[in-house]
Amino acid sequence: MPDEVNPAGVPATAMVPVAQIYRRDAPGPWWPAGIDLLQILWCPNEHWDPPAQQADASPVIDMRWRRAADVTRQLTPLPSPTRYGEDGYLPQPCSVTAEHVTDFPFREALPPELRPRLEELVHETGDGRDVITRLAGSKLGGWPTWHLTHPAVFPCGDCGTAMTLLFTVASDDETGVVVGRWGDLRIFTCPTDHRHAFQVDLH
Ligand SMILES: [Zn+2]
Ligand SMILES: [Zn+2]
Repeated sequence: MPDEVNPAGVPATAMVPVAQIYRRDAPGPWWPAGIDLLQILWCPNEHWDPPAQQADASPVIDMRWRRAADVTRQLTPLPSPTRYGEDGYLPQPCSVTAEHVTDFPFREALPPELRPRLEELVHETGDGRDVITRLAGSKLGGWPTWHLTHPAVFPCGDCGTAMTLLFTVASDDETGVVVGRWGDLRIFTCPTDHRHAFQVDLH
């Protein structure tokens, strides 16, 4: 990060754990072969000139795909960041209980012949509200909401494949996380190779 006074930049600060997910708790197509632990971290500072795949005006995301058996040493106590941009960028420590749900995409993202059926399902289940598409909250997998912009597709910068939603960090009273204007920070990844660069988007 550049600094107004010192051209060498400001001192590095510890990244903050955002989510740790075990494969056994959330099996699904997003797990690469041999990997059973996903760790999502972020720098709790907005960077002036973030890398292209990061969202503007947001914490800067990093991800680690690991084998749980390789994690034999834990950092205790966790290092605290020496600087952070917003209180909402410091998630409250908590444990997560996995809940498996079916998430449907935004109607426009479906082939035209499937849209009437989805519309029926929304009416049948929602009591006037849509409670089955683009489910709100922090989630692994599922579909992104598009209530501010037209639906977008991010092509993988390495191979051109359309990226899919891997994880959503939602603004939430329980975790204390606030991103954007009570928004979601979404991580899109390449479905063909988890090592291809991911894309983060604030919505
Ligand atoms: Zn940073
Ligand atoms: Zn790719």
